[in-house]
Amino acid sequence: MECCQDENLRNCNCSYPGCERKGKCCECVTYHKKRGELPACFFSESAEKTYDRSISKFIADN
Ligand code: SF4
Repeated sequence: MECCQDENLRNCNCSYPGCERKGKCCECVTYHKKRGELPACFFSESAEKTYDRSISKFIADN
């Protein structure tokens, strides 16, 4: 299966600079899941910019 990285990047709201997982959603989800977190795309624009990817931040954001 081919990676849709270019298409994923068009829909990615992550503003964290320099992350090599940007647009590689499978790696992004796995990374944050292992840490008990959610990826940037689960958060509003303002919450995403805090770089707090915790579940409690997600709940507070909704
Ligand atoms: S959400 Fe996390 S892993 Fe995904 S691109 Fe942003 S910083 Fe990287």
